[in-house]
Amino acid sequence: METNKGQTIETRYVFVTGGVASSLGKGIISASLAKLLQSRGYNVTIQKLDPYLNIDPGTLNPYEHGECYVTEDGAETDLDLGHYERFLNIATSQDNNVTTGRIYKNVITKERKGDYLGKTVQIVPHITDEIKRNILLMGTRHKFDVVITEIGGTVGDIESLPFIEAVRQLKWELGYKAMFIHLTLVPYLQASKELKTKPTQHSVKALQEEGIQPDVLVLRSEHDLSEELRTKVARFCNVEPQAVVQSVDVSSIYEVPILMQKQHLDEIAIRKLQLPMKNEPDMTSWIHFLDKLKNSTKKVKIGLVGKYVELPDAYKSIIEAVNHAATYNDRKADLQLIHSESLNAENIAEKLNGLNGIIVAPGFGQRGIEGKILAVQYAREHDIPFLGICLGMQMAVVEFARNVLHFEGANSSEMDHATPYPVIDLMESQKNITNKGGTMRLGAYECKLKKGTKAYEIYGKEIVRERHRHRYEYNSKYLEDFEKAGMIASGTNPETGLVEIMEIPTLKWYVACQFHPEYSSTVLKPHPLFMSFIKAAIKG
Ligand code: GLN
Repeated sequence: METNKGQTIETRYVFVTGGVASSLGKGIISASLAKLLQSRGYNVTIQKLDPYLNIDPGTLNPYEHGECYVTEDGAETDLDLGHYERFLNIATSQDNNVTTGRIYKNVITKERKGDYLGKTVQIVPHITDEIKRNILLMGTRHKFDVVITEIGGTVGDIESLPFIEAVRQLKWELGYKAMFIHLTLVPYLQASKELKTKPTQHSVKALQEEGIQPDVLVLRSEHDLSEELRTKVARFCNVEPQAVVQSVDVSSIYEVPILMQKQHLDEIAIRKLQLPMKNEPDMTSWIHFLDKLKNSTKKVKIGLVGKYVELPDAYKSIIEAVNHAATYNDRKADLQLIHSESLNAENIAEKLNGLNGIIVAPGFGQRGIEGKILAVQYAREHDIPFLGICLGMQMAVVEFARNVLHFEGANSSEMDHATPYPVIDLMESQKNITNKGGTMRLGAYECKLKKGTKAYEIYGKEIVRERHRHRYEYNSKYLEDFEKAGMIASGTNPETGLVEIMEIPTLKWYVACQFHPEYSSTVLKPHPLFMSFIKAAIKG
């Protein structure tokens, strides 16, 4: 992934807030604006401020907050950072996601060190100053031209008040170098067949009560908004009519940058921030991707076996990585989310029938584990292209141990402490760790690929870097047995020797990796493993 090439101008800050309802797509609007500015030649990043007390989302159950996204530098972050990377194709870092918990932790640590020199430590100015410092870091430390900071939650929430107050102060300090975008909902009332602007007016009022005047309003709606309606909103909310932008529902989030471009959102931002207009955004490759997305009608049917399937956001990056790869292979991804708990020996053939490829998902703990093992066995025995990711890889190893090596009771010691064959075992470095937060093997590590293997053929090079999030590892004590029986280690960590990829070369496509390739698949750079997997699935 590319890194920021260095600053050419004084950093500008765009603050994105939301009102009326959550889940309106602040992350996608932020990413779309960022994409357009990037395509004009600016170095842009996006930051997410999350108003909850967890230090990071690493300890959150996926049912609470969807997937936990992992950055190259090993931060466990909000899934919106995945969107940012998929749109911008540049790496984010620990500094791109800040929670209330982290802000308070920093302030309290400083207080304990005596850094406040006897002062009373308060929300204003100490918490707000710490928030401001974290926002400005994107300019001072990372030297971006434009920083788009998205404030989680909705305006009026008690929890987000310190964030709102901090950005209010920043606007005052930064002047034209900062601006506000507020995203709201314009609901459609079916009974009266009307679009309603009142919630937007109230939401802007709430923002104004907190001292913030939005420069741009993005109105999310299921229907096209008339000129008249937009003018009305502009008038009531003190916003220029052309700065009232609509965001209607579209079939793919990747269309949003183009929709925003048509309404000149990037030009409006550039003008408000007094930046040079530079070139028109070069969106050629993006549009090429969108064309493929629209034109690929033939399907490739992929099963994703996991235990959080009720909430697809728990697998956001995998779903997107499959979409990217399917699109570049001129196929529409028909992704079936299959509940691992629903699988048993009797129904497995019926449940996995007709799939062109099977992915077994990452995860933690015992629930649904035997279903995952059955899915791997089915893929292996029927030679269906198979990709195992993290826990999916570990269960592939357990399945092979039990059914090919006949290691009775083989397991990961995560699931069974007393297994006679701990083919997946706790990493040495994890043995004395008691704290759960931020203590896994996290972030990007090098992996050395063995020449002549499928992994080497796919990546086309010897050293790759991939992101990790796990405590358990392949137990190399058993490697000789596995390799003799046909499952080989094709990628290992060059420093520690940890096994990172296992594959079965006699099958058409069977690759299982300890790392998470899904985190680094982007719209313009689909991940090679997913590309190759989808190719194999199409080929059958
Ligand atoms: N629970 C497993 C471990 O900690 C796998 C983690 C994952 O799938 N991300 O090693």
